[in-house]
Amino acid sequence: MLHITCDLCGTELRPGQDHYVVKIEVFARHDPAQLTEADLDEDHMEALSQLLRELDDDEVADAIQPARHQLRYDLCPECRQRYLDNPLQKDLTKETAQKFDFSEN
Ligand SMILES: [Zn+2]
Repeated sequence: MLHITCDLCGTELRPGQDHYVVKIEVFARHDPAQLTEADLDEDHMEALSQLLRELDDDEVADAIQPARHQLRYDLCPECRQRYLDNPLQKDLTKETAQKFDFSEN
């Protein structure tokens, strides 16, 4: 049987128990406002292919398929809550330190 574990704490997620999935998709944003009438010209595709011919293979790959990352994590209920509290992993220790005027002395 397939064993699934929490990607944060390693707890085994057994069938029938609460089990949460986090899906993250990170990709380059292309602003539609940057499209101009020139982009719609019939010559545009020709100009684009000309441009692609002038780039090396890696640059072509980037131009056609912008960097896109899809991540998937399995979480137990505790780690789900922990994740939701701070999904972007902001450094909360600084904020806490300021809030309580924490001093090492
Ligand atoms: Zn966990």
